[in-house]
Order: sequence, then structure tokens, then C-alpha cells
Amino acid sequence: MERVYNFSAGPSVLPVSVLEKVQKDLVSFGNAGMSVMEMSHRSKEFEEIIQKCEALLREILEIPTNYKVLFLQGGASTQFSMVPLNLLKHFQTAAFINTGSWSKKAISEAKKYGDVKIIASSEDKNYSYIPKLEDLYIDPSIDYLHITSNNTIEGTKFSSFPTTKAPLVADFSSNILSEPIDVSKFGLIYAGAQKNIGPAGLTIVIIRDDLIGHANTLCPTMLDYKTHVGASSLYNTPPTFSIYVSMLVLEWIKEQGGLKQIHENNLLKAKLLYDFIDQSPLFSSPVEIESRSLMNIPFSTSSEEINKQFLVEALANGFVNLEGHRSVGGMRASIYNAMPVEGIEKLVQFMSQFEKNIV
Ligand code: PMP
Repeated sequence: MERVYNFSAGPSVLPVSVLEKVQKDLVSFGNAGMSVMEMSHRSKEFEEIIQKCEALLREILEIPTNYKVLFLQGGASTQFSMVPLNLLKHFQTAAFINTGSWSKKAISEAKKYGDVKIIASSEDKNYSYIPKLEDLYIDPSIDYLHITSNNTIEGTKFSSFPTTKAPLVADFSSNILSEPIDVSKFGLIYAGAQKNIGPAGLTIVIIRDDLIGHANTLCPTMLDYKTHVGASSLYNTPPTFSIYVSMLVLEWIKEQGGLKQIHENNLLKAKLLYDFIDQSPLFSSPVEIESRSLMNIPFSTSSEEINKQFLVEALANGFVNLEGHRSVGGMRASIYNAMPVEGIEKLVQFMSQFEKNIV
């Protein structure tokens, strides 16, 4: 069976060379005589895997030494409660910039533990843009400011970040490792692995030292960052296989030339698709130009019928998972790091042919 072009928003495409390495070592990892799936998380072999995974992430993202890296479970959704449970310490107040469905979920969870101030929102225009940061007033009496750096469903991303006195917390689930970032600007970064890092099941948290150890007294042990820092992410059984595959993906990122090169590829891929959409008489993008995501690209025709026809024909031609999120409809191409340029070139060719048949 030939591989398709998989535009899934997550879990999503992984580099073929990584899958081949996994296949090669699936039954016996190195000289272990067993699969990574069968190993104790306290074995010497796994200890090396988790340490290498952390070292690679630190190197690739240039994570400063006063930050801890955690390998957790529960998805980014668990971080929606873990962050307020640990960070609401002085003012019992968190500020949010509301840029879409995932921000809203993070907001409603934080409201259970403290006060929430929405200091900016793009809800007025269907979340089709990122609010202007120059217009922001950030109250000094907040414990943290939360943003969603890339909005997977709406297809927007922050191109710069707010400057705050309070820690900046960012949900990087759908654009971590897509470009270099200055980690020192953030108090805490979290991301589910299943887009740019590896398979589902792993959640990565990068947390500044001073934010550890202040959890709410009712915070469950498993949701206290201190628990996992103290045990080097081995307090309980971590998602061992996801960590192993993520380590291979991080090696692949290094082989590609690191985040600078990855970013250049991502800019090129996104430009190919946006340029085509912007000149098309059939397809259009709902997102304001300056706010456009490099990872998730929603587009649509003016007719539901034609959208449906497009999706059926795309599928028949090996372009898979192009449906827009069920809450917004239309189409969406998620083009994470592992989507090759060729995948976008072929998609654009296909869209162009489809357009000729319709218009
Ligand atoms: N935040 C963002 C930006 C996401 O894209 C997603 C998942 N698509 C989530 C949070 C939720 O992640 P999880 O399914 O890992 O809980």
C-alpha cells in the first residue's frame, strides 16, 4: 500500500525515515532483545532514551538552564487545569487572550480555580485574526497571561508575543518546533506531542524554575509540576513509546538543519498554498493575512456542495484528512514539519485542476 498525503490536524504525519527506524527496532531495540514498548521505564535503556529526548529538545529549542522539561500524559487538555492549579498563587487571577476554540477551553477550565480576565479576543470576527498586541493593557495584578500560540482550528498564529511582567504561558500544541522561539520570554510552554513532536500520549511542558512548587493545596499529586520535576518525569509510568518516537523525531529535526531550516521549509510550504488560494477564483482563505498559521491552513469555496465534491475527489486522489474542523466546516490542510514540500506541490496541482473543471 502506497502512503497517502495526510493533512490531518493531529495525530498527524511523521517523517517516513522515523517510521522506518521504529520498524527496524520494533521487535528488538538495539541489544535489548525486546521492544521499547516492553521495557521497564526504569531500565537503563529507557533512561538513556528519555535523557536523550530531553537533551535534544533542550538543544533544538535552546532551552535555558533555569527551565525544567517534563514528559507528561493527559494531553494539552490536562494543562488547561494543571496551569491554574499550579500558577494561581498571588492574585488568584489569570489573564487570557481568546483566539479560538482551544483558548476557550483553557479559559473555562481556569475559571474553576480563580478569576479570569479576557484582555483581548478575536471572537468578533470568527477568530480570523490575532488581536493587536500594541493595544493590550495588561493588569499587573495577574498571576499569568495565557495565549494559544497557534490556533489549530481557525488557522491563526501569533507572530510576536506580548511582553508581560507576569509569566507568559503558551499552548504551543500545534506549532512547537515549527520555528525558533525565545523560550526565555515564557514562564511555561506546553504542547501535546501528536503534531510536531511524535505520537499521541505524550505532553511536553517547559517550565521556569520559580513557577514550580506553588500548587494549590487541593491539587492532586499527579497534577503538581513539583511531583514530576522531583522524579525527572518518572513519578509514574510515562508514555514510553511516545517518548522514544519523539526522540527519533528530534534527531530528524537536527538532521534537517534544526529549527532555522525547518522554519524556512515551513515558510516555503505555506507560501505555496496561500499564494495559490489568494489568486484562485474558486478557493479563499478566511484568515487575515498577517495572522496566518504556517501549520494549519483553512480554505473554502463559496458552496457547501463544491466543498463536499472537492473532499471526495481529493480523497480519491490520495489527499487525506482535508476536512475542516467539525465546528467550522470547509477544508483545512495541516502541514506540519513532516509534510514534505512535494505534498503541497501535488495538492496545489490537484486544486488547480479541480478549479479548472468547476470554474
Ligand atoms: N490546544 C491546541 C492548540 C490543540 O490543537 C489541541 C488539540 N488539537 C489541544 C489543545 C488539545 O490537545 P489534547 O488532545 O492533547 O488534549
